[in-house]
Amino acid sequence: MASTVYDITIIGGGPVGLFTAATAGEMGAACNMIESRFHLGGIMMAVYPDKDVYNFPGITSIKGRDLINNLISKAQSDGMVAHLGEYVHDISMRSKNVVIIKSNKSEYVSSTAIITTGLKAHYSPFVDMIKIRNWNGAGIYDDWPQAAMIKEKRIAVILGRSAESDIPPHIRQAAEKIYLIYDERWMKSTPARTRDSNKGAFEVYQPPWLIREISGVEIPEIAVLENENTGERRELPLDAAIGLYENQARQTVYSNLGIEMAGQHVKVDQRMQTSLKRVFAAGDIAWYPGKVLLLTAGIYEARIAVKNALKMI
Ligand SMILES: Cc1cc2nc3c(=O)[nH]c(=O)nc-3n(C[C@H](O)[C@H](O)[C@H](O)COP(=O)(O)OP(=O)(O)OC[C@H]3O[C@@H](n4cnc5c(N)ncnc54)[C@H](O)[C@@H]3O)c2cc1C
Repeated sequence: MASTVYDITIIGGGPVGLFTAATAGEMGAACNMIESRFHLGGIMMAVYPDKDVYNFPGITSIKGRDLINNLISKAQSDGMVAHLGEYVHDISMRSKNVVIIKSNKSEYVSSTAIITTGLKAHYSPFVDMIKIRNWNGAGIYDDWPQAAMIKEKRIAVILGRSAESDIPPHIRQAAEKIYLIYDERWMKSTPARTRDSNKGAFEVYQPPWLIREISGVEIPEIAVLENENTGERRELPLDAAIGLYENQARQTVYSNLGIEMAGQHVKVDQRMQTSLKRVFAAGDIAWYPGKVLLLTAGIYEARIAVKNALKMI
């Protein structure tokens, strides 16, 4: 159960959520952000990190990745707390002034909430294995990270169903040790590195050894494996874990939570408030007559939502 009461809880860590957090922080609000993926940036980071972002007044050219990195550092310097790998499935009122936001991992208490979930959440089954207390957001990846992130580290690579089986050279060269955990029955081919002669840095685990959880305090520290035949458990010390599972696209159906929708969008009034008082929406998820699905529009909406949310605190 959460003990902190936030002024604003932002649901969804895409560009609009990040801009919302930076704006709220600038205005002195204590805010937290909940994002279903293991990294921030929404579709801009997932779909077009290397494309130029257009329609930004005064900026002739900026790549999606650079814009997101700027937004993340601004939001963090303004005090944003981000909870990654958490999918929000419920928003409700505890009393007239208190909003409760429930994710698959935790429950948050807030004076207001702003929904910036875009049109889809991407959710990896790997999320359910992460049991790190007060996780600080580091060391867990749902895609191959850059070499610098795992340099001289002990890493677990967990290949989920239908994952590509070859470990890229930059990962093999950078990591100090690799625990490779997979089920051969699912793989199209045997992972290449296990066929190499020099297996010094590799330990391979296959059924009956199954990965149960990645645990630790603040950072990943241990991969817990269990022998499905004997129940024996084994703990592997590590610094980072990469879980390559097929992401499931999910759409949060806010009408099930009593929030009025228009098609796949959430309806808002001119204050960007939804049909649930104290709950606002901005960005691609929000709808009003004349709505445009562009980042510039989302940023304008975010500012209005923050201003009106703060009037309620
Ligand atoms: C190919 C392409 C090119 C584009 N180019 C431009 C451009 O040049 N200029 C421009 O202005 N716009 C452009 N756009 C549009 C722009 O990218 C979007 O308007 C913008 O990304 C919307 O941001 P958002 O934060 O609202 O949503 P998103 O970017 O979709 O982020 C939403 C975030 O919320 C998370 N989430 C969803 N549901 C949940 C949940 N239940 N719990 C927790 N987290 C959740 C998602 O994982 C995601 O990270 C482009 C779009 C595409 C697809």
